[in-house]
Amino acid sequence: MTDQTPLMTGKRGLIMGVANERSIAWGIAKIAAAHGAELAFTFQGEALEKRVRPLADSIGSDFVLPCDVVDEPSVDSVFAAIRERWGSLDFLVHAIAYSDKEELKGRYLETTRANFLRTLDVSCYSFTALCQRAVPLMPKGGSLLTLSYSGAERVMPHYNVMGVAKAALESSVRYLAVDLGRDNIRVNAISAGPIKTLAASGIGDFRYILKWNEYNAPMKRNVTIEDVGKAALYLLSDLGSGVTGEVHHVDCGYHVVGMKAVDAPDISTV
Ligand code: NAD
Repeated sequence: MTDQTPLMTGKRGLIMGVANERSIAWGIAKIAAAHGAELAFTFQGEALEKRVRPLADSIGSDFVLPCDVVDEPSVDSVFAAIRERWGSLDFLVHAIAYSDKEELKGRYLETTRANFLRTLDVSCYSFTALCQRAVPLMPKGGSLLTLSYSGAERVMPHYNVMGVAKAALESSVRYLAVDLGRDNIRVNAISAGPIKTLAASGIGDFRYILKWNEYNAPMKRNVTIEDVGKAALYLLSDLGSGVTGEVHHVDCGYHVVGMKAVDAPDISTV
């Protein structure tokens, strides 16, 4: 290949879900920017603004907007600002999830109605709501990406209602892919292995989950936000031009494993 144009040159993307430098969204933003993308960011609340602005600045972006996905006017104003400044959008990254951490331990059976609805609203419906607003800005096509976890497919300790929300999110990826495929808008998810982030710290026994994955994943390590970023680059760029409706695992292969590796240390040593 002789074409040396960076993969994301001329592409503009909205990154939602950076809380700090450990966020998966930041891993995606860094590599997209390094490959030439122009980025806008959202933050949820003033405390996170102080974290997000310097990160955006470090990759040359001053396009930083407040957004709480359960507050529809704030969502609308993000897309109005993008329309005004850019006129169009090439990709969207949704790396947003929330559940009451009191319900990310113990049994799923105890899930309250209020937290069920809140978890599904923030962690699942928000992706659809954002897609509704992104699509009119993508007349020539685009790429919409969300983040999932294998707790959507199988039971993981303490993941509880978040697993149910991720299952619904993965299903919504498939429905959206069908709705939008004819417009050359692709919709995909990355199912990432466990990573120590702010959101993950709310999950009970997360250290145990990390160790278990490290010992039992085929690659004998956990993924990084850079690993996830590289796979996202493929799905957001034209490298993924024929891929939609996909839930792509970036988990060092953990999803193919059926039981504890015989050479994995006894979990009691963790
Ligand atoms: P993180 O804490 O860095 O990011 C979560 C983000 O969600 C934060 O920026 C937070 O502000 C945002 N958010 C929560 N409620 C919101 C709301 N109402 N409005 C707007 N933003 C809101 O953690 P992360 O691990 O990088 O999470 C990003 C995504 O990756 C989530 O969907 C998470 O479920 C998913 N994921 C994480 C892991 C992991 O182990 N860390 C594994 C697989 C998937």
